[in-house]
Amino acid sequence: NRRILIAGNWKMNGLLADSVALGRDLAARWAAGPRPDRDLLICPPFPLIAPVAAALAKSEIEIGAQDCHPAPSGAHTGDVAAPLLADLGCGAVILGHSERRADHGESDALVKAKAEAALSAGLTAIVCVGETLAEREAGHTLDVTLGQLRGSLPDGANPATVVIAYEPVWAIGTGRVATPAQAQEVHAALRAELIELLGESAAAATRILYGGSMKPDNAADLLALPDVDGGLIGGASLKAADFWAIACAG
Ligand code: 13P
Repeated sequence: NRRILIAGNWKMNGLLADSVALGRDLAARWAAGPRPDRDLLICPPFPLIAPVAAALAKSEIEIGAQDCHPAPSGAHTGDVAAPLLADLGCGAVILGHSERRADHGESDALVKAKAEAALSAGLTAIVCVGETLAEREAGHTLDVTLGQLRGSLPDGANPATVVIAYEPVWAIGTGRVATPAQAQEVHAALRAELIELLGESAAAATRILYGGSMKPDNAADLLALPDVDGGLIGGASLKAADFWAIACAG
């Protein structure tokens, strides 16, 4: 009953013309079909949201963002408010990505506040969690990821408005994908924690995405896992053929 979501996180990549071309390529693949019976989302850098949304307009591929500020407006130079993202047509925003936690020192409390701002603006919050290699090797994978989940989940979370993304930091951009067993173990633990936090039926309906070196050749095995409900795709989302192959995998 959980509809698969394949989301592309373009990160800090792309210039205007090539990004619009990538959006048009995806829209053309959507138009030509066959289409996957899945939700598709593309999250470009902020200044590319409007032009890429225009390129995707004739498809049902949704547009999203990679961050937002916890406040709805105000004196926050360089930040972007969730209501503006919604106004630009975004349906979702990625929050608490490990690159933001590392580069900008984002805490669980800040991620939670951002996620609450996203929900207030009518956006779906894609809340990211994941352990570093050192944390995994020290046996702390579940403490870290479940702790991030508890600390970052917005008040008022429900399956329609919150998506969880498990992204092991050691798998991001490294080509070292989690094995199906590694992914399933953490996803199942996250879902068990969601039962505690949200209750049985909400936990059963909440999507948990896997991210970290997901590619056309490993996507089907990951997407077949019982608690993996989609993918958050970095590098492979920058090539239309690869993103489409993942979207259709399995
Ligand atoms: P890669 O697919 O490039 O490993 O990135 C994953 C990611 O961080 C998506 O948010």
